[in-house]
Amino acid sequence: MQKKVSGTRDILPEEALFWQELEKISRDIFTRYNYKEIRTPLIEGASLFNRSLGESTEIVQKQMFLIKNKEELYALRPEGTASIVRAYIENNLDKTARFRKFYYFGPMFRLERPQKGRLRQFHHIGCEAIGSLDPDLDVEVIALADSLLKAFSVKDYKIKINSLGSLKDKKELIALLNKKLKSKLSALCADCKTRFKKNILRILDCKNDNCLKVISGLEIDDSYLCLQSREHFSRVKAGLDALSINYEVTPYLVRGLDYYTHTVFEIVHKDLGAQDALGAGGRYDNLVKELGGPEAGAIGFAFGVERLLLVRSPESVAKSKNILYLITLGQEAKTEGLKLLEELRKNEVACEADYESKSLKGALRAANDLNAGKVLIIGENELKKGVVTLKDMVSGAQKEIARQALIKELKC
Ligand code: AMP
Repeated sequence: MQKKVSGTRDILPEEALFWQELEKISRDIFTRYNYKEIRTPLIEGASLFNRSLGESTEIVQKQMFLIKNKEELYALRPEGTASIVRAYIENNLDKTARFRKFYYFGPMFRLERPQKGRLRQFHHIGCEAIGSLDPDLDVEVIALADSLLKAFSVKDYKIKINSLGSLKDKKELIALLNKKLKSKLSALCADCKTRFKKNILRILDCKNDNCLKVISGLEIDDSYLCLQSREHFSRVKAGLDALSINYEVTPYLVRGLDYYTHTVFEIVHKDLGAQDALGAGGRYDNLVKELGGPEAGAIGFAFGVERLLLVRSPESVAKSKNILYLITLGQEAKTEGLKLLEELRKNEVACEADYESKSLKGALRAANDLNAGKVLIIGENELKKGVVTLKDMVSGAQKEIARQALIKELKC
């Protein structure tokens, strides 16, 4: 038997209903905030991610699915932001309207060690707002993430926020960490020893007990932030307060990617265990320019769909569609049924028929399993009289209806 690749999942029809629902809700909310859908390729030149996420990040170092073709090196996209910024620049979108808002759905690929909530192919629902430095945009984006979670009926999540400041402030923070951690290197885990040289900010994300102890003793405050950065962050917090959005300022929240500056945020859920992030995002004010575009401040986030589905509450369970089930008895009725099915579907009535030659009892059971609200029965008697029998599966009541009057009856 052939098996799926480790860290990938089949989304079977029953679960696909939840995905459809999540997408439908998201489209609705994104549209209310005036975000427009963008679809970029799953495959990009690998250098796009090396340049944007950063050569020393874990994604670029260890997690990219790379494909070599002659001299070209491609990568399956590990995230959406870099591709969207590339598309914004390459399609000259800034020339018609510099300020743009995008949303997206789709699979992302990371060569990680699979575990609960951590896959090699997973899906993001995300958005990017490009072309503004306004702190109110940070507030809007976080409010949008909050609205999505509420619309998905997710409860008990926590929004953590922090500011990395400008690129210069971030360098200051890195220097500060360097100074404070140098003498404590021996207490850090092997990964963090490597991070110390390659991506020191990432040490602040480490979950190792010893590292956590070292980190908690660092006593780093927000003194690395310049006045402007501090002002930006204050306005973000004031905006969130004005909207009564609950958040927690989390000093050591850094996000590991090179492109983040100023506001960063992460939304966590206690039921997720070790991989507790439902979604995350932040500002990336220098990325558009770095990738060859204009100066354009930007901010975005992405939720992991698989993790959203792990924490959805029972009342968010999709109701199965109210389908009508057609039972025919005998060949002549079956032919008549075929015509009827087409007519019903053309009239926007969702319906299914028995294709397994079941007995009447068996077919009624199948209708029940399908959660059909109504059943139509056509037998010899009905054919003779030019009627169909309509059975309400909830009340059990049934009545004969003239064939011509059926659509009207079903629609009212
Ligand atoms: P990131 O781009 O790493 O900030 O990811 C944003 C969100 O995507 C995370 O908060 C997770 O919900 C989800 N995510 C990231 N990596 C994975 C993965 N390997 N498997 C499943 N979900 C993931």
